Amino acid sequence: MKRFRTTARSHFTIVALFLSATVAFTQDPPQLSYTVSLANPEQHLVEVRISLPPGSSDRELQLPVWNALYQIRDFSQYINWIRAKDHAGNPLAVRELNKSRWQIHGTSPGAVVEYEIYLDSPGPFGAQLSVHHAFLNLAQLLMYPVDARNAPLVLRFSHVPGDWHVATPLKSANDSYVAENYDRLVDSPVEIGAFHESDFDDSGAHFRVIIDADPADYNSDKILAALHKIVSSAISWMNDRPFDTYTFFYHFPRGPAGGGMEHAYSTAIDVSADELKQSLDVLTGVTAHEFFHLWNVKRIRPQSLEPVDYTRENYTRALWFSEGCTSTVEGFIQLRAGLLDEKGYLFRLGEEITELERRPAHLTQSAEASSLDAWLEGFGYYRRPDRSISYYNKGELLGIILDLVVRNASHGQASLREVLQWMNNNYAKKGRFFDDSNGVRQAAEIVSHSDLDSFFTNYVAGTEEIPWDDFLGTVGLRVEALTTTVPDPGFLASRNFDGPMAVAAVAPGSEAEQAGLQVGDTILELQGKPAGQESRQALSRLNAGDTVTVKVRSRRAGERELRWKISSRQEVSYEVKDLERVTVDQHARRLAWLKGEAQPGVSGGAGQ
Ligand SMILES: [Zn+2]
Repeated sequence: MKRFRTTARSHFTIVALFLSATVAFTQDPPQLSYTVSLANPEQHLVEVRISLPPGSSDRELQLPVWNALYQIRDFSQYINWIRAKDHAGNPLAVRELNKSRWQIHGTSPGAVVEYEIYLDSPGPFGAQLSVHHAFLNLAQLLMYPVDARNAPLVLRFSHVPGDWHVATPLKSANDSYVAENYDRLVDSPVEIGAFHESDFDDSGAHFRVIIDADPADYNSDKILAALHKIVSSAISWMNDRPFDTYTFFYHFPRGPAGGGMEHAYSTAIDVSADELKQSLDVLTGVTAHEFFHLWNVKRIRPQSLEPVDYTRENYTRALWFSEGCTSTVEGFIQLRAGLLDEKGYLFRLGEEITELERRPAHLTQSAEASSLDAWLEGFGYYRRPDRSISYYNKGELLGIILDLVVRNASHGQASLREVLQWMNNNYAKKGRFFDDSNGVRQAAEIVSHSDLDSFFTNYVAGTEEIPWDDFLGTVGLRVEALTTTVPDPGFLASRNFDGPMAVAAVAPGSEAEQAGLQVGDTILELQGKPAGQESRQALSRLNAGDTVTVKVRSRRAGERELRWKISSRQEVSYEVKDLERVTVDQHARRLAWLKGEAQPGVSGGAGQ
């Protein structure tokens, strides 16, 4: 995330540029098929045509309310119109059953359903058609027949501009793509545009790299070199490669960027062009994380996420593992790939501990509860430090602690690596889903031959303080708390989805409160400049005693300009440091730990 080729590939699949409605109509096989027309990129409008094979006389079509990202997004808000007809072109009755489901009457000989949908959500979770390109999370635009979600299907694109190509992990057949069922279809993002494609082979597999960005903003050789290291580290760590071809989709937008989204045979990743110019670190971190997800969450999958319910939330207590421990392994992959060194790793560990310890909610919300509440994460009020923790943050730390616990209990014979490999062999490879935290516990207890009740009860299901030194001491490390005095503006602001910046918390008794700032106020300007990406930095440049000027608006109090003096407060940071005396044993354990490997042949590793 070695040496490789960068070639403009010649075997792009170029789909039919124009598909006449009548011709396509008569040629449709008696199979569920979708045609997506890109005729109107200026208006971000896509026309979808679903051909239903013969079946029952009433069919229901559902558009998902969410996909992949654990947030209800109600994609049907973007539908402009929907209609249906029979094969002779006679209109069929369409009845809306709820905001995301429609019933079509008279479908026994088959039918055609057409609708128009607005797609302008950029980023790896979204769907967008613009004059520049199309990137499609297909669940955002394609309805499924409720009685045929498992049926094989065909997907075509029409009105594709002449110089655009299609890239997707879906299998191609002639001028179309096929999927064995709807779930596979919507786990397969599609990029259509004038992108740059490179490819390389590693560990016996083929990798495609699709980059849609300004060529001035990135160095493709450097990215491919990092990808080689990441995929070979991850594959060797798992001792498994459950795919022949894997596709990386990258976008490097100017301005804010949305992160990454995992899929079984691909990942879509956005990194801001500015970030990328400074270093590859963000790109390699996100890539290692998303790539490892092809095992953890896509194949090693909690039962609570299956079957996917596209009509409502799939509540799961396992995201601390599926997301958090994916971040833990992201660290091991980077270390093994030589993309991160011990110093950098321990610095990051200190930052993660700081993030958790600074959030008062670490004493009230468990890692499992945080997983369950993932669906609230789009809301700024929920993200306040005294309301919630992050299952990414605590889950990553729990993965690190679990690794050390398993090493100790097994006297170095097993580690988190053996836990993941056991889960891969006994759940994923056997087509079974695991029983959330209990499934993780089962695997960890089997590979360590020990009872891990206290770890799971106290730290996963519970909110006990984690005694960092007890665990880190085994590898010769300790955590040091440093108290510093920092400027304090007296409030927290955040953004709901892509909405305006709003005040999420005002410190009681603060100057901000006395000046009249209220929770819920929309921040219009900060220091005379419109609220935006730079506001955070502008705020961080202020020192205690400086005056902050904020223009806000609220429904009750209208628009007003508030001023107050920045005060200061004590803030605790945590750093991970060597013990005063690191023993030979501790040092040996640390070396194995930082490779993410067990330490066969070593015994009696429990004490510090
Ligand atoms: Zn993730």
